[in-house]
Amino acid sequence: MPRAPKPFELPPIQPHPRYGAAPTRSGLGLDADELCAGFWRYAQGHVLDARLRLVRQPSGAVAPRSTFYLFLASAIAADTARQRYGVFPRRHYVDILRRCVRCGTWFLFFAREQRHWYETLGFWIDADCVHCLDCRKADQRTRRASARYAERIVRLTELGLRELTTLLRDALLLADAGLLKDRHKLARLRRVGRDHGVPEALTLALSALLDGPDSTGSRPKGTP
Ligand SMILES: [Zn+2]
Repeated sequence: MPRAPKPFELPPIQPHPRYGAAPTRSGLGLDADELCAGFWRYAQGHVLDARLRLVRQPSGAVAPRSTFYLFLASAIAADTARQRYGVFPRRHYVDILRRCVRCGTWFLFFAREQRHWYETLGFWIDADCVHCLDCRKADQRTRRASARYAERIVRLTELGLRELTTLLRDALLLADAGLLKDRHKLARLRRVGRDHGVPEALTLALSALLDGPDSTGSRPKGTP
């Protein structure tokens, strides 16, 4: 009798506040071929059964960075009438384990999360989730900071202390993300901040940015 294949060992998974940190079970009872026939991209994944044994390999070569795993037991049926697609809908959603393309963290893109994306939020069916939740949240924070910064910097001299404090905080966040490199602007913000008494920690952080060894605007990505 052939030896049963060893079950896949789950890596540490970033917890999701709503869906948890482990694949779920739906009781739908699909087989791997049925699952993969339900959406073109699924055929590029490793399919694992309820006991985490590999039951289907990716068809074709997949770059190691693009490796992902599908948990067959988590598959749920989709309501394709509510999806936005060109030719092929997704007939099923399934918990997908993959690595964030930015930070390398393992995360689950949950079947129920996909249903929310594609049936409630109206995302295009081929829109893929390649960033972990922490990176998606960081992106949202950066976008909000960027919009607020653009709106406030043009009326710098009219800002009250609270708005000015937020502006300096936003500037620091954007500078850290490599999106704000104008040293004159940063120096001016520091000066106005000092004159109006924003918390010293913020003007000191701006000083560190302006005077630090890596103050050329080329701070390495991911520097805290
Ligand atoms: Zn990430």
